[in-house]
Amino acid sequence: MLIAGNWKMFRGPDPAALAGLDAVICPPFTRLHDCVDAGLTTFAQNVHWEPEGAYTGEVSAPLLLEVGVVGVLVGHSERRQYFCETDETVARRTRAALDAGLRVIACVGETHEQRERDETEDVLRRQLAVLEPHPDLVLAYEPVWAIGTGLTATPELAQEAHAFIKSLLDAPVLYGGSVKPDNAAALLAQPDVDGALVGGASLDVDSFQAICETAARIPS
Ligand code: PEP
Repeated sequence: MLIAGNWKMFRGPDPAALAGLDAVICPPFTRLHDCVDAGLTTFAQNVHWEPEGAYTGEVSAPLLLEVGVVGVLVGHSERRQYFCETDETVARRTRAALDAGLRVIACVGETHEQRERDETEDVLRRQLAVLEPHPDLVLAYEPVWAIGTGLTATPELAQEAHAFIKSLLDAPVLYGGSVKPDNAAALLAQPDVDGALVGGASLDVDSFQAICETAARIPS
């Protein structure tokens, strides 16, 4: 059971307050060093596919490894939606990170419109087609309509999507989309839900701790 906290572009809590927690933390770049220093399992929120070069504003796997980062989040829907991330760039970032020895959480998921049009499976099939199984690759199913909206997939809906994803690619699958202390237990109890990617609730130490404690109680 893996719990990951995505701080997005928020400063986030004091990393020292999270010390000892069995979780992955994905802070903004400027806080990576503080999180590593506090002994947290620290992932960056993006990575470029080239090891170095004239790519202003990007960061590479070797640069992240140098500060003690152990993994990266790739293909978050906010990057797909606002920063022209495509399945092809997700694939390139994922491959480069894994080749460099970083762990990867790669995000997939459909928008509200795609679900309404009954296109969820097609979207997941397309997003997953560019990825290959790897021991250090974890997927996150994040229905876009549930991210930061307070809407959560029902445990049954999450289970159905996770089972479909696993039928296409053999990897653990986290659920993401408004996971909170009060809905975590039901979601994490689903047989194909292998953990959670938590956005908003990871910014609050008590909420995040409560989700981690819930996860620790679920038999693996
Ligand atoms: C996320 O940022 O990946 C996320 C799932 O956010 P939230 O938990 O706020 O919906």
